[in-house]
Amino acid sequence: MILVKSPAELETMREAGRITALALRIVGEAVRPGITTAELDAMAEAAILAERARPAFKGYHGFPATLCTSVDGEVVHGIPGPRVLREGQILSVDCGAIVDGYYGDSARTFAVGAIADEPKRLMDATQAALVAGIARCQPGLRLYDISAAVQEVAESAGFSVVREYVGHGIGRAMHEDPQIPNYGRAGTGPVLKSGMVFAIEPMVNAGAPDVHSLDDGWTVVTTDGRPSAHFEHTVAVTENGPLVLTVE
Ligand code: MG
Ligand code: MG
Repeated sequence: MILVKSPAELETMREAGRITALALRIVGEAVRPGITTAELDAMAEAAILAERARPAFKGYHGFPATLCTSVDGEVVHGIPGPRVLREGQILSVDCGAIVDGYYGDSARTFAVGAIADEPKRLMDATQAALVAGIARCQPGLRLYDISAAVQEVAESAGFSVVREYVGHGIGRAMHEDPQIPNYGRAGTGPVLKSGMVFAIEPMVNAGAPDVHSLDDGWTVVTTDGRPSAHFEHTVAVTENGPLVLTVE
């Protein structure tokens, strides 16, 4: 069942989204060669706590940190630690915050210093795929209109979408119904209604779509080792069109 949120609930989710976006901005401003992913994680946690919110990921199914930090061929769910970022890498940062029991969830991929042309194009295509998906968050459209829009942008740029991990409904739980694949057939799926809230999150690979998990139980990597990018926003369907909640 896809829950519909009231205007008051959307206001609280907008606040959770604002704090999530704030933390991501602070992290993005700090990304540079020589910094560790643990240092970025500490910055994000401090930013969220300073706003009297709670990090959404820390403790979630035992996840140990505020951020997921995934470098180059890591797709999602990388664990922050002593790893030092190097010039030319791309870093995907996923972040969530909880306000009064409501969740915000957003991700961005950042360049570490100067990067090559292919990862740059990959990041741009992934962000464009997210924008295309968000544009389909309109009452009366169908759920897999979002999926198809994401897939079309990613694949027409020559890249592939990850199948095993998907976007999701979000509200009083980080993961609510429905699942939102980054591939699908337009014109199918449940009809979208005002008040539904979705975390739309294309995970796009430069090479093949295949992924697997590492022995740490969390980090998901591309099987061919080529880079992957990830962008995500929490978005409400409203009568006035898509309302992105994870912005400052
Ligand atoms: Mg996320
Ligand atoms: Mg998510």
